Amino acid sequence: MRSSDIRSTFLDFFRERDHRVVPSSPLIPSDPTLLLANAGMNQFKPYFLGETVPEHPRATSVQKCARTSDIENVGRTARHATFFEMLGNFSFGDYFKQEAISWAWELLTRLYNLDPDRLWVTVYLDDDEAERLWRRVGVPSERIQRLGMEDNYWSMGTPGPCGPSSELHYDRGPAFGPEGGPAVDGERYQELWNLVFMQNLRGEGSGKDGYPILGGLPSKNIDTGLGLDRLAAILQGVETLSETDLLAPTLRLVQEMAGREYPGRDGTETSVSFRVVSEHARSIAFLIADGVLPARDGRGYVLRRLMRRAIRHARRLDIGEPVLAPLTGSVIGTLGGTWPELERQSGLIRQVVTAEEEGFERTLRQGSRLLDSAIRRAGSTISGRTAFDLHDTYGFPIDLTLDAARSAGLTVDVDAFGELLEEQRRQAHRAGQDRKGDAVTRQDLYRRTVAEHGLTDFVGYDTTSSET
Ligand code: ATP
Ligand code: MG
Ligand code: MG
Ligand code: MG
Repeated sequence: MRSSDIRSTFLDFFRERDHRVVPSSPLIPSDPTLLLANAGMNQFKPYFLGETVPEHPRATSVQKCARTSDIENVGRTARHATFFEMLGNFSFGDYFKQEAISWAWELLTRLYNLDPDRLWVTVYLDDDEAERLWRRVGVPSERIQRLGMEDNYWSMGTPGPCGPSSELHYDRGPAFGPEGGPAVDGERYQELWNLVFMQNLRGEGSGKDGYPILGGLPSKNIDTGLGLDRLAAILQGVETLSETDLLAPTLRLVQEMAGREYPGRDGTETSVSFRVVSEHARSIAFLIADGVLPARDGRGYVLRRLMRRAIRHARRLDIGEPVLAPLTGSVIGTLGGTWPELERQSGLIRQVVTAEEEGFERTLRQGSRLLDSAIRRAGSTISGRTAFDLHDTYGFPIDLTLDAARSAGLTVDVDAFGELLEEQRRQAHRAGQDRKGDAVTRQDLYRRTVAEHGLTDFVGYDTTSSET
């Protein structure tokens, strides 16, 4: 089934059940607590909170979503993208668990024809009602598992609406990992659809110290999110999101430009690079179409990170020529029919990516010369000062310094680098120019990133913190 049919089947199904079809909101949310739209429910938050009364109590949508928190997963897991489309149905104080569960089951097994024996369900720890309803539609108890806050409780912001959830997962078979159901973390049981029983208000506080539930919302609501890309991968019989019809033409262009074939999901860095480049091209095009421009912080920095990562992975595939303009062009060709803003903004997209790629290439050339001489001078370690100067004065990303050092058999004094960064923050603070973001966290983040991911992609900071 083509992705366009998946979308229309979903919307038709809920339209026939008295849902109003609502267009996607832009990736730049009107909600100031949110960096980028990350779920279908975002635009309906005031309805859930009871701040606004909707015209109609049922809605359905295909929402554009961006999740930079998943950036490190892209290309490495089969299921994560930084941009994806979320299909959703919503009830604002209208229907609740019973309808949400039986409709989800009907749609997946009868309209999308997924094999019911491969579907697994998770419910929140104490949600006996949800479990009973799943058994009633025919899910055997062996394929229903109970999970905690981490997996089966959804919330949007603090304070914000929240509630226990129930999720549908698809068993992709032994090639993807060991048996055991979704409770076993991994790639085999791919989460497809999250049904949130939105009924509480969450207060400030996060992590293990707190998940304070302040009380009930004015009404009981339904918020669901089904990943179009993930469903497409299953229905099209391909292994990763990059191979679905949403991204395949762009992946093909990457292959043409690299002059070699995508090796499939073979565990190599080459295959990761193919997927990263093609996936990021799509996010880049959509972000610019919705008005995000490259910048040193906030959303603009997210965009810049995506562009730089795409370029670097393209270079790893030995593509020497500019990549962003042709690849975003391919995205527009593939998805412009469904998302006309891509077509409308195609001129701007081309202009922005071309300028950014040229600028980044200059930075890289300049930084590389400096780095080469630093490498010649260095004994076994590149000093924190050198790494810092490259980063601060020349905008040369720390992960590139780390990469180059590794290739030359050297290390980088990351701790000293972090301290200089911290010192710079203190000075900026004294000068009253501090921007949002906690520098201790940043320094730790540098260390942690290097420790966890070795010398691959340093991705900078998430959320709205500044680039320093
Ligand atoms: P996962 O546990 O696999 O990271 P999630 O629990 O973070 O997914 P939800 O917040 O529940 O995801 O979002 C609802 C649905 O949106 C998911 O069930 C999935 O189908 C889809 N989805 C979420 N994140 C991504 C992503 N990064 N790329 C593609 N689809 C996604
Ligand atoms: Mg996730
Ligand atoms: Mg999950
Ligand atoms: Mg989920």
